[in-house]
Order: sequence, then structure tokens, then C-alpha cells
Amino acid sequence: MPLYRDEAVVLRTAKLGEADRIITMLTRSHGKIRAVAKGVRKVRSRFGGRLEPFMRVDVLVAQGRTLDSVSQAESVAAYAAPISADYDAYVAAGVIVETVERIVTTEHERVDAQYRLLIGALHALASHAHEPAAIADSYVMRALALAGWSPRLDACVVCGRPAGDPAYLSVAAGGVMCQADRTRDAHRVETATLNRLRALLHGDWATLDAAPLDAATRRLVEEWSEYYLERPIRSLRLLDS
Ligand SMILES: [Zn+2]
Repeated sequence: MPLYRDEAVVLRTAKLGEADRIITMLTRSHGKIRAVAKGVRKVRSRFGGRLEPFMRVDVLVAQGRTLDSVSQAESVAAYAAPISADYDAYVAAGVIVETVERIVTTEHERVDAQYRLLIGALHALASHAHEPAAIADSYVMRALALAGWSPRLDACVVCGRPAGDPAYLSVAAGGVMCQADRTRDAHRVETATLNRLRALLHGDWATLDAAPLDAATRRLVEEWSEYYLERPIRSLRLLDS
């Protein structure tokens, strides 16, 4: 059987049969892959705890006719322990892996920028670099932006002029609108909220670390991701450069 080696982050696991699991991973060079880990649920599994969600591992994968299988897994960074020890970080990491799984819809398609963004976010969570909710929200906005869904925040999406104050934001239209052009679904956003959305998109931690994320900003991130994750995303191969 042909083998390949890659670095990967474990996104999700699902039980298979008596002792096995299917491991969904995002890899550095092969994009999203799913592979069976045989015997991983046995007490003395050769994989230990290395194939748990949020682990960053070096894997050797054997290509099968129907399903690949993991032959070896070595730890690169044990993000799982520090993340699982902190409830807020654990919740944030769950949002992050679910988001990347939904954004990267095809398997075996290299997605370098998404991989780097994922590693950065999990590393930040594991090292308690910033507020977990801000790490997750920044990750979600940036991962969606890489996939082609970046909100336009500088000018009205209809007329292109500065949106003014107050500005209105339409998730469906993809950004801010001026008072004259606003559609019924657009809601009013404060300048401070727009500034925080920009900071999330750019990973501007000096701004984000200054105060906890407010409810209005968090709601917008949630609305934005719910809306765009429901829709098919254009080929990541073209957009992820
Ligand atoms: Zn306008």
C-alpha cells in the first residue's frame, strides 16, 4: 500500500466497530483527510492519546482502496491538554475545528493558508495568549475571509461611498450600507463594533486585548458564520494562495 507522511491537526473522531476510530484531520500538504486508526480505543493502543481532537501530529498514512489508515502518529504539539483544562478554551477550540471542517469541503486538496491559520489559533488557545472567545471569533472571520467571504466594512456595498455614522450591516449583502441604501435585513452597527470586526479580521491583538469582546460584535460574527457556512464555498484551491 502506498504511504505518505504529513503533519496534521485532529479535527474530529468517530467510533468505528469495536476498537477503531475514523479520524478526520487537516493536514499541511494533503488538505482534509479521513483515516481509520485501528485499535485506537484499546487501553494499550500504540497511538496513546495522540489522535484526540486538537492534537497536532506527524502521521504516516497508508492509502487504502476505500479508506486510508493511520500507521503511525507522533506528537508535534500537545494542544489538547492545555485546551481541555480550560472550559472557555475548550469551547473555542470546538468552534474552530467545526468551522474548518465545514469550510474545507473537499478531501485531499491542499489548503496551506487554512492550515497555518488553524495552527495559529490552536497555539494561541493552548498558550492562553488571548481571551478564548476573541481567538475563536478572529479565527472564524479570517477562515471565512480566506474562503472568499470577507465583509466589506469600509464603504457601502451598494453605492461605494463611506457608509457614514450610523452605518448598517447586511450579512446577506456582504457588508455595510449607508442610510439611503440600507435593506430591511440590515441592522445598525456602532462604529466601535465595526472597529472590533476589523480587528478580528486583521488579528489586531493590541486592540482586541484591550477589552473583552462585547455581545454585539460576537452576535455579528455568529450571524456571519452561520450565514456563509450554510452556503457552498467556491474552490479553496483557487482562493487559498
Ligand atoms: Zn450607499
